[in-house]
Amino acid sequence: METKLNELMETGFKFNGHKCPAIPFGIRAGLAALKKLGVENASNTKLYCIAETGPVHAMQCFIDGVQVTTGCTFGEGNIENTNFGKQAFTLIDVIEKKSVRVVVKPEFQKNMLASEFVKLRSQGIETEDVDPEIVYPLIQQVMTLPDSELMTVSEVKETDFKPPKCTFNLIICEECGEGVFENGIRYRNGKFICQSCFNNL
Ligand SMILES: [Zn+2]
Ligand SMILES: [Zn+2]
Repeated sequence: METKLNELMETGFKFNGHKCPAIPFGIRAGLAALKKLGVENASNTKLYCIAETGPVHAMQCFIDGVQVTTGCTFGEGNIENTNFGKQAFTLIDVIEKKSVRVVVKPEFQKNMLASEFVKLRSQGIETEDVDPEIVYPLIQQVMTLPDSELMTVSEVKETDFKPPKCTFNLIICEECGEGVFENGIRYRNGKFICQSCFNNL
């Protein structure tokens, strides 16, 4: 378990580009969700993730940790973000029709926000420029505290959620000539057009 956690953490740091406590946090949360769903290996099943974070400091990195752990990535198209400003996500096992929601405990969020690390970050200092001696104890804390102090994991619920359909059907926008897959196509004045042209016309 510990080796897996360390491996995921290294992958998460590389994927994200810096070392901060939010990445192992997302990894811990992702692992907790997989465990609750009874999914051992994310690649063996069909998972979909609904993140609630949005563009808030520390939260983007949290979701990078979740992506690395669950295999739900924005590139793969099996994750979306509702931008609710909550450090939370729902992980859905699409085949088994089960879901679980994980939300970070507000007490822990407050502790993190009160840390020297966040103080420096809020003064505009980049994560990679913060003294590792300030960052590492926080990473250690996130790695070692029990799940119950970090997050609330919901009971497993049944769900009828259907992920967005993928397509190979390419259509050429009749306005700009760019290729657009059919789920992005719009129709106006007898023309099939892309969404950028639709919004600009
Ligand atoms: Zn970060
Ligand atoms: Zn167009």
